[in-house]
Amino acid sequence: MSGLVAEVAVAAPLDRTLSYLVPEALVSNARCGMRVRVPLGRRTATGYVLDVQTGAVDGLKPVIELLGSEPAFPPAMVDFFRRAAAYYQYPLGEVIRTALPAGLSGGNHEVKALTERIYQASEMVGMPRGPRQRELLDYLRGVDCVARSELLTVFPNCQSSLRALVDQGFVLEGQRERLRDPFSDMTLAADTSVDMTDRQAEVFASIDAALQQGGFQPMLLHGVTGSGKTEVYLQAIEQVLRSGRQALVLVPEIALTPQLVSRFRARFAGGRASLAVLHSGLSLGERFDAWRSVARGEVDIVIGARSAVFAPLQRLGMVIVDEEHESSYKQGDGFRYHARDLALMRGQMEQALVLLGSATPALTTYHRACQGKIAYLELPQRVMSRPMPEVELIDLTQDRPEGILAQALKDALVANLERGEQSLLLLNRRGFAPYLLCADCGEALRCPHCDITLTFYLGQKELRCNYCDFRQPPPDQCPACQGADLLPEGAGTEKLEQELQELLPTARIARMDRDTTGRKGAHQSLVAAMEKRAIDVLVGTQMVAKGLDFPGVTLVGVVQADNLLNLPDFRAAERAFTLLTQVAGRAGRGERPGRVFVQTYAHEHFALDCCVRHDYVGFAREELALRQELGYPPFGFLVNCVLSGAVREQVEAAAEALVAELLGPAMDLGIEVLGPAPCPLARLRGKSRYQLLLKASTRPPLRHLLTRMPVLRRALPGKVTMTVDVDPLDM
Ligand code: ADP
Ligand code: ZN
Repeated sequence: MSGLVAEVAVAAPLDRTLSYLVPEALVSNARCGMRVRVPLGRRTATGYVLDVQTGAVDGLKPVIELLGSEPAFPPAMVDFFRRAAAYYQYPLGEVIRTALPAGLSGGNHEVKALTERIYQASEMVGMPRGPRQRELLDYLRGVDCVARSELLTVFPNCQSSLRALVDQGFVLEGQRERLRDPFSDMTLAADTSVDMTDRQAEVFASIDAALQQGGFQPMLLHGVTGSGKTEVYLQAIEQVLRSGRQALVLVPEIALTPQLVSRFRARFAGGRASLAVLHSGLSLGERFDAWRSVARGEVDIVIGARSAVFAPLQRLGMVIVDEEHESSYKQGDGFRYHARDLALMRGQMEQALVLLGSATPALTTYHRACQGKIAYLELPQRVMSRPMPEVELIDLTQDRPEGILAQALKDALVANLERGEQSLLLLNRRGFAPYLLCADCGEALRCPHCDITLTFYLGQKELRCNYCDFRQPPPDQCPACQGADLLPEGAGTEKLEQELQELLPTARIARMDRDTTGRKGAHQSLVAAMEKRAIDVLVGTQMVAKGLDFPGVTLVGVVQADNLLNLPDFRAAERAFTLLTQVAGRAGRGERPGRVFVQTYAHEHFALDCCVRHDYVGFAREELALRQELGYPPFGFLVNCVLSGAVREQVEAAAEALVAELLGPAMDLGIEVLGPAPCPLARLRGKSRYQLLLKASTRPPLRHLLTRMPVLRRALPGKVTMTVDVDPLDM
């Protein structure tokens, strides 16, 4: 028997798509992009229709219902989803679920469209009798069509006159969808393009030429901090819009980049282009509406974090990935994609220009540019001939601090405050102290669920795990030896803030880290206070290094460079160089030049030396040589398989069994298998974790080996789970 068959990607851990019969009642609306509920074994699941065709339907189960009334993505996205799923070896249905905003993914959060009543004068001539009705009708005849809510603000209490006009036929009543707009109550001064500097103009000309040429054009814009990359993005977008195509702008974290988003909105607001912001800080309803207006083709520019790479634009001309080196582009759980890499994939599939921007490109990106696989554009100087900040290392073996801050940095802070200029301090540890240490036995208090020490918070009188959020009051005695002397060891931002208050009693000091920015709007009000110069010294974790543009900041201090350099990760030097360069780049962006102090015990480390000299290329050369020696990215490709479960012995045994299965085929393919070994964080949220790392000099063998994973996963003991991370960033 033949009939309509839907190919459905079910949001479940399946290796393939499934076919379902489209029942008669759903035929008219079943098409690609629709969300459906389908039977799966003895339960039901959400799925996404990829294709509908006539075919044999014998034995097929029917689709139960359609969810929503319009497609969640256009047919052109299907190939992109398929390639992304294949690249990351992740189930297609789960890929699509991750790509869609929560309100559309078909879970428990299904969001409904909002509607509103609208009114319009009819063709009927003449006038009603009552003066209020006349007034109202006059108004309606002068406008196009008005929403009820709007009419009520112009004519308060007009409900009964309106009803009368509708009843007499003077006015037509209808309904339309009302989109939730998170920015409706925000007004912005319009902003126009500025005259670009010669260097900006040169870079822009290259981008423009690539746009004219068309096709897939990957480009890296390597511009030092404060070199004016954003202006180049803005003008490139105008070109894209002029050619009738759309632009997608990815930023690391919307909540942390309010300034960039405002600049985009100011430039394109006021009807020049419609712009949608997609991010997780929006309400479900706002995201649902923004997504659907993009899917309907009503939006020219989409700005969003990581997941916006899946925005359903259909005339994509350009993708910008700002701060492309940022690790937040990598999703840390579930479908572990990298938005920059998917942006390149999408650009290639849709023949778009992909512009990666950074002052500190990821070494993998820079290496590709050196190989000529990505065009290289450079802005080597700050705009308006502003100098790069002067970076000095403070050798902590010489200038030994009593507390956290060395004398040289203290002096600079005092002097900066006296001049009325702003300072920024980076310390990559939250809380008051990273350990509470027993003075008798030397034990640190640890999280009962994770293999990590508990952070001590003085203000809240609390110990907290920064991984699983376990909390407890500080005990009176050491749990190991009953000693009564528990001392905070090391320093976090809370303690630094306290030390600063003693050093600068008159200064206005604020702290920016995950603890002070948890509430909605808290980060934004800190940014606003910095802009208004209502803060003299801002203390914070790496959050303060990210893309902020405060012209009043002339002094930046890095309190502990060593804990960045000493991470057990082959990318530690790259991470440290990037973070230091980025935070240093916050200094001297305005009229006055900036100074940067970096406190360290490792003052001879090449990453620090290159940072002092603003020498990205020198750093890259040295670090790439080390990577090449070890066969690490970009000279090799990695896949990390992490096994986890409650019982350590079980996980270890499963990891060893897995290696035994993989070793033979891996050797045949020229893949190195490292491990199994406990993960750096060997226990997390009560689960023990083991990893094995697959390493190869090219990708195809890895991809080939990964096709075995579904079978191997099914062979794992019931209580052990495995995640596969392609191109891992954290290991
Ligand atoms: P980046 O993103 O490269 O760090 P920005 O785009 O934030 O740099 O630019 C740094 C500062 O210089 C901003 O305050 C910006 O308004 C200003 N700026 C950029 N281009 C120009 C220009 N052509 N003329 C004057 N000021 C500019
Ligand atoms: Zn924990």
